[in-house]
Amino acid sequence: MQIKTATRLTLLPPYLFAELDRLKKEVQAKGVDVISLGIGDPDLPTPQHIVDSLKRAATKPENHRYPDYEGLETFRRTAAQWYARRFGPEFDPAREVCALIGSKEGIANFSTAVVDPGDIVLIPDPGYPVYYSGCVFNGGEPYFLVLKKASGFLPDLDGIPEEVARRAKLLWLNYPNNPTGATVDRSFFEKAVKFCLRNNVILAHDNAYSEIAYDGYRAPSVFEVEGARECAVEFHSLSKTFSMTGWRVGFVLGNAQLVGALGKVKTNFDSGVFQAVQEAAITGLEGGDGDKLAEYCAVYKERRDLLVGALRAIGLVCAAPRATFYIWAEVPKGYSSVSFTERVLKEAGVVITPGSGFGKGGEGFVRFSLTVPSERLSEAVARIKALRL
Ligand SMILES: *Cc1c(COP(=O)(O)O)cnc(C)c1O
Repeated sequence: MQIKTATRLTLLPPYLFAELDRLKKEVQAKGVDVISLGIGDPDLPTPQHIVDSLKRAATKPENHRYPDYEGLETFRRTAAQWYARRFGPEFDPAREVCALIGSKEGIANFSTAVVDPGDIVLIPDPGYPVYYSGCVFNGGEPYFLVLKKASGFLPDLDGIPEEVARRAKLLWLNYPNNPTGATVDRSFFEKAVKFCLRNNVILAHDNAYSEIAYDGYRAPSVFEVEGARECAVEFHSLSKTFSMTGWRVGFVLGNAQLVGALGKVKTNFDSGVFQAVQEAAITGLEGGDGDKLAEYCAVYKERRDLLVGALRAIGLVCAAPRATFYIWAEVPKGYSSVSFTERVLKEAGVVITPGSGFGKGGEGFVRFSLTVPSERLSEAVARIKALRL
């Protein structure tokens, strides 16, 4: 028997992080207390009232059965209400909202719902890797929109060649942005929606970091812009907002036809979110958290200020982001993203993420996550400083 797996798996880029994982284990085996600033996973716990809600919901037998793939009516309604309170526009829970098993699931399946072989998909580079895998798994042709520092890490939509725009089916956007920490205001979405309507392109906005913001910045939604409902969906996640990455729950809302198409894929591929998790998510979305979220943002902001200050003091160039928990820093002269990451791991015992792991456009940068306590961040910078870069 000779096993041959699907050719689509060969379309994925070499998994850079596997080599870094191996290196990390090697460093740990030497007894080094490795500090991981590599992953975007909150260390702050899920607020207690959400955990308590799950405990209650888990005891109900009706929650032990298969959920509906699209989510409980109460979950969709509460999500739409949370969204309306936060951003303004109102959505019909029955037709324009769908529960997701984490927004990653929805992002991946959305490509299956809209991309045909040969379609061009416009993908930010650097970017969240699922936009790319969703594209190529479905036979789509990626066209990378390089996010450059000089343009504030925004894609140059005017620079997309006419024939590319004509063949494009889908545009991915993600602001506040992972990995660059870049943010936008409503006028950027106005441009993006105009581009999409003019060229008949579907707009998918990943708004996973909408609530992780500082300095009074308020991240907009694409639906604050006229015309967005004709062409767009927006993905929301409870993962970062409520420190719930392990729970797997999010939602999509937007154009009914697009939400319905994603729903069709989901009925065929999955069986929805555990209802007890949906009940707990409702508790989170209803608010009444005694300002836990504001408290968490204050913690991230303090860490941001500490890390940005310390990195600049040792000569690394980086901006203080107005949102997300990432610092996107330029690598010092003489290094590539990977060679800098490797040296910092081997000699300082600090894990960071090479920008090139998010696409070629991320070369020259590394990403630091603010998901460890301040003492650990200070310790990490002290060790990097000792390298005398
Ligand atoms: C964390 C993250 C998500 C959310 O993932 P979930 O599946 O909801 O946990 C989506 N997009 C980006 C860019 C992210 O960083």
